[in-house]
Amino acid sequence: MATAQIADLKCAHQRVLMRVDFNVPLDEDGAVLDDRRIRAAIPTVQAVLKKGGLPILMSHLGRPSGTGPETAYSLEPIASRLQALLGSSHQVHFVSGVCRGSEASRTIEKAATGDVVMLDNLRFEAGEKANDSEFAKEVAALGDAYVNDAFGTAHRAHASMVAVPDAMHCKPKVAGLLLEQEIHYLADVMSSPATPFLAILGGAKVSDKLAAIRNLLGRVDSILVGGAMAYTFLHARGDAVGASLVETDMIETAQMLMESAASEGVEICLPIDHICAQTISKDVETRVCEIGIPRGWMGLDIGPETVADWAIRIDSARTVVWNGPVGVFEQPPFNVGTAAIAEAMAHTTKRHDATTVVGGGETAAAVEQAGFAGAISHVSTGGGASLRMLEGAALPGLASLDSA
Ligand code: AMP
Repeated sequence: MATAQIADLKCAHQRVLMRVDFNVPLDEDGAVLDDRRIRAAIPTVQAVLKKGGLPILMSHLGRPSGTGPETAYSLEPIASRLQALLGSSHQVHFVSGVCRGSEASRTIEKAATGDVVMLDNLRFEAGEKANDSEFAKEVAALGDAYVNDAFGTAHRAHASMVAVPDAMHCKPKVAGLLLEQEIHYLADVMSSPATPFLAILGGAKVSDKLAAIRNLLGRVDSILVGGAMAYTFLHARGDAVGASLVETDMIETAQMLMESAASEGVEICLPIDHICAQTISKDVETRVCEIGIPRGWMGLDIGPETVADWAIRIDSARTVVWNGPVGVFEQPPFNVGTAAIAEAMAHTTKRHDATTVVGGGETAAAVEQAGFAGAISHVSTGGGASLRMLEGAALPGLASLDSA
């Protein structure tokens, strides 16, 4: 996917409107709980500063009503954290309560070279989510160039992702460094993977991953299906699944997917054993079940035989993409299988120089929790956006950027 990049951008003395994803968790007092997304944007901010440009950062945070400023959703604590991360050599000017208009323009005008401007929550205005062109025109007027570094929002056709760059007409519109990295791992590696190419899919529902499975069937050598979605496949195959989660309206689809996989020569591997319990809680009695889960018992994680078999398969793959935990990873002891998959991916990355990619959201949290995030080639910062890319879908936020 050839999208213009920061390296192509000439922005000395220019105002660079930069869409970032600073939608970070805050505690009850408004303090930043996890600043990974802020830190992830710093290289692009620094790159613009180094080129002599003035970064003007814009982001959404949470779900305000869209009818004006709300203190609980102000980006002020994030601006303070950014200031701390950038250090005293760069002053961060925060535009409180608004993301356009005269106050934003005044703040931008008074900013000196080396400073950074941060606008307040884009979603204080309904025009952001509505992709409104009038709202976008005013935001666009604040910049001479546009940088998108908000992969986590790239699947949403919101104004700051689409209508704003569109309103900037022939001004330069490029991908930031984080977006560039996401595109590399999720699009370029997917289209020309080293083989064997293995996909691991888990999570709650077949219906959520259906488009991804269909797209992957044409690209991969095998797919490991875990998580609750495995039970719809196992049920379709005729196995007893007890009280495990089954999407009854997806049983026929699961059957058809297994048939098309067989005709395309793609192996769909289902768990060969399961960690089962009657309820999801910490000290509950568990059983390892092989084929056939008894009545009243739920499959809540892949079992030890499956872990051993899948670790071998992961070890012999040269490209692995993973989306969706293979068990109820939030609740020990049902986190073991997911942690073992993360470990196997880290191992093959190190030992065989395999390319390993983890989709964002729950899977990224699980890999982080298991302590292997740093040992995997790429852990995506976007849950929904990374899934759209596995589906082979075009992302609206990427379509608005210049081609390389
Ligand atoms: P998703 O957002 O579709 O990737 O789903 C993630 C959720 O699937 C997590 O909250 C897991 O707890 C849940 N999950 C994974 N495996 C199972 C399972 N065997 N039974 C019930 N829920 C599961």
